[in-house]
Amino acid sequence: MSRTQISAQQNAAYHAALQDILRAAQQLLAGGGSALDAVSLAVDLLEDCPLFNAGHGAVFTHAETHELDAAIMDGATLRAGAVACVSRVRRPLRAARAVMEHSEHVLLVAAGAEAFAQEQGLELVSPDYFSTAARREQLQRALATATAVLDHDGASLLFREPAANASPLDEGQKLGTVGAVALDAQGNLAAATSTGGMTNKRPGRVGDSPLIGAGTYADNRTAAVSCTGTGEMFIRMATAYDVCARMAYGGVSLDTAAREVVMKALPTIGGRGGLIAVDGRGNLSLRFNTEGMYRGWARVGETPLSAIYADADEGCAA
Ligand code: ASP
Repeated sequence: MSRTQISAQQNAAYHAALQDILRAAQQLLAGGGSALDAVSLAVDLLEDCPLFNAGHGAVFTHAETHELDAAIMDGATLRAGAVACVSRVRRPLRAARAVMEHSEHVLLVAAGAEAFAQEQGLELVSPDYFSTAARREQLQRALATATAVLDHDGASLLFREPAANASPLDEGQKLGTVGAVALDAQGNLAAATSTGGMTNKRPGRVGDSPLIGAGTYADNRTAAVSCTGTGEMFIRMATAYDVCARMAYGGVSLDTAAREVVMKALPTIGGRGGLIAVDGRGNLSLRFNTEGMYRGWARVGETPLSAIYADADEGCAA
């Protein structure tokens, strides 16, 4: 399905969801809230929204289950927390933050992560809480092509031969991993990412999102970065960290670093996707090498903007 086949109404629902969430985080920052709290709030809301591939509305594994991954990083202290392969934690990002703040670890997985979340008083749900009819249909289509499918792009994980019915931003595949990056009034950066992973993935598979340096990274000296895309390639390229490293070692701007990584480095190994990032001076970069990436941005005192494709709808206001 091409972009022309995606209805204006559907696009409007995405813009509205993104802008509501941006406004909530913007308000928090305007009131002196921290970047960590802003990204936590934004991802909380995104996880609850069935339009996106995280929390309620997460994609299915090959076994028709859900395995969720999430990570958060504090650019001020380089503390980080993550969970992977959880299927009963309602808000995986809250569990990631609890790992960062209340354990001596960075990454907890599966049953151990769920037990920790429960100990921390976080809400556990039945695994079918995450399921939606749209995601079930998406799995059926992926099973028919026997590939793992990237959520917001029609290409399969095996890029050499895109699935026969693959098409960019397919109606059933256009919903993405969620992430948020923020800079607060104190000059602190934070990044957070949450995902159901890739449709039809093998149970036990972990993508880039919960891996610090791959899908998520924040360092006040450079930038906060949250990635979406074909996780295996983002892991192999240490993508989020690579953006920060290019800034630190090469002295290049955030957008130059992000462009090099997304448009040049990742494609050398077939990596598809993009990232959102903000640096310590508030410069933004939202780069992707797919047809579109759901994204939005807001500065305190300004109207939040959102966009889906690379060009035409750039910067819609509510
Ligand atoms: N990066 C995620 C993963 O590989 C998927 C996505 O961003 O859509 O798990």
